[in-house]
Amino acid sequence: MATIIQNGIIVTASETFQADIKIDNGKINMISNQITGSNEDTILDATNKYVLPGLIDPHTHLGIKGTLDAFETGTRAAAAGGITTIINYTDPDNSQTFLEDLTEWKEKAQNALIDYGFHSIINKCDKDVLEQISKLPDEGVTSIKLFMAYKENMVNDEELYLLMKAAKKAGVVTNIHAENGSVIDCLIEEALSSNNTKPIYHAYTRPPATEAEATARALRIAEITGAPAYIVHITCEEALKEFVRAKEKGVNAFGETCPQYLVLNEEYLKQEEKEAVKYICSPPLRTNKDQEALWHNIKSGSISTIGSDHASHPYVNGKENGINNFTKAPNGLPGIESTLLLLYKYGVCEGKISMSKLVEITSQNPAKIFGLYPQKGSLNVGSDGDVVILDPNKSSIITKASQKQSTEYNVYEGMEVQGSIEYVLSRGKVIVKDNKVVGEPGSGKFLYRNKFTEQSQEGRL
Ligand SMILES: [Zn+2]
Repeated sequence: MATIIQNGIIVTASETFQADIKIDNGKINMISNQITGSNEDTILDATNKYVLPGLIDPHTHLGIKGTLDAFETGTRAAAAGGITTIINYTDPDNSQTFLEDLTEWKEKAQNALIDYGFHSIINKCDKDVLEQISKLPDEGVTSIKLFMAYKENMVNDEELYLLMKAAKKAGVVTNIHAENGSVIDCLIEEALSSNNTKPIYHAYTRPPATEAEATARALRIAEITGAPAYIVHITCEEALKEFVRAKEKGVNAFGETCPQYLVLNEEYLKQEEKEAVKYICSPPLRTNKDQEALWHNIKSGSISTIGSDHASHPYVNGKENGINNFTKAPNGLPGIESTLLLLYKYGVCEGKISMSKLVEITSQNPAKIFGLYPQKGSLNVGSDGDVVILDPNKSSIITKASQKQSTEYNVYEGMEVQGSIEYVLSRGKVIVKDNKVVGEPGSGKFLYRNKFTEQSQEGRL
C-alpha cells in the first residue's frame, strides 16, 4: 500500500513546482504528474498546498534532567511542527564514559515518534576521551559538541585544539557553543555584587563581544586544525562578522541560528521579572538590528541551518527561580513545534527568504552537514518519505493552550503565525493528520549518520 500526495506545490532547496509524489515502502519512489493509485493506496489531496521535506531539527535537548519533555512528548510536539528528524544533545555524566553515556541516550529515545540521532557533548579531554571520539562513527554519531562557557562543561583552548583535531581525524563535525565563559563569569560576579539581579542583566553580562570573541577563537582553532566547525545558535551581528571573515578565509565553518533570535529580542528580558525570567537563554536574546543581520546572513548563505534549541525547563521550580537573581533561572527556551510556522510567517511571508531557502535551512543543509543526505533532507526519488503538507492560507495564534510541548508557558504566546500543518509523514506513514498527532511512540528510528569527509562535503552546501 502506497501513499500518493496529489497536486501539491513541491518545494526543494532549488525549485518549486506542481507534481504528485508516490511513497512506497517508506521511500519516495516517484515524483511526476498525475500519479494515480489503486484502491488500497492512501491518497492525500494537496491542491494549493505546499509539499516540503520534513524538517530536521539539529539542536534539541529532549530528556535533560529537570526538563519536562523527554522523547515521547518532545517528539510529539516536534511532529506537530513538521519536524521528522531531530539530532538531540546527550548530557555528559561524569560517572561514565561518553560511549556508555551514548548507549544510555539511545535507550532513552526509544519511544520517540520520529527519527533521531545524537551529538555527543564532550566536557573534558584526556587520552581516553580522544580514543572514544575515534569510535563515535561506529556508533552512528558523527558530531560532538564543545562548550566555551559554563564552568562545569567548558573546555580550554588546548582542549579545543586537541578535541577538534581528533574529531577531524575521525570524520566527526565539532559543534561549538561560542561564548567566552571566563569573562562572562567575571561580569556576572560584578553584576550581582552591584545588586543588578534582574533578568536583563543576563543579557548585559553576556554582551555580543563575548560571543564574537569566542566565535573568532573557535574558528581560528578550526583554521589551524582544518576541522569542520559548526557554530551553534549564532545570535548577533558582531559574532556574524567574525564568522563570515573565517568562512571567507576558507575555514570549514557552518553556522546555525534559532527562531527565538529571529523573532524575539532583549525587550522580553525587560518585562516584569516573573515574565522576563521565561526568556533567559544563552547566548541571550539580542536587538532588532541583530535580527536583521541574522536574516541577511541566512539569505546570503552564511548561516546554514535553524535549530530550535528546545529546552523545556518548567516555570515552577525552574524559570521562576530566576526572580531576584537571574543566575538561578535555567538557561534555554522551549519551542520545538513553532519553527516552521514562525519561519514561514516572519521569513517567507515578510519577504525575507524564499520557500526554497526555508527548505534549504530547515532540511537540506542539516542533512548534508550531519551526514543524513540524501536519505533525509530533500524530496528526491529514493529518499525517505518524510513530508510536510502546509496549507499557506490559514493563520493562527500561538498559545500555551494549543501547544503540544509540556511547559506551563510558551515564549511565543500571542504571536500570529501563518500556515497550517495539515499532514506530516514519517517514512511514508501519516504521523500528523488535520493538525492532530497520530504517530505512535516508538516508531522513530535511531539514524546511523555518515562521517564528514572533505569529498562528501564538496558541492554540498
Ligand atoms: Zn542548546
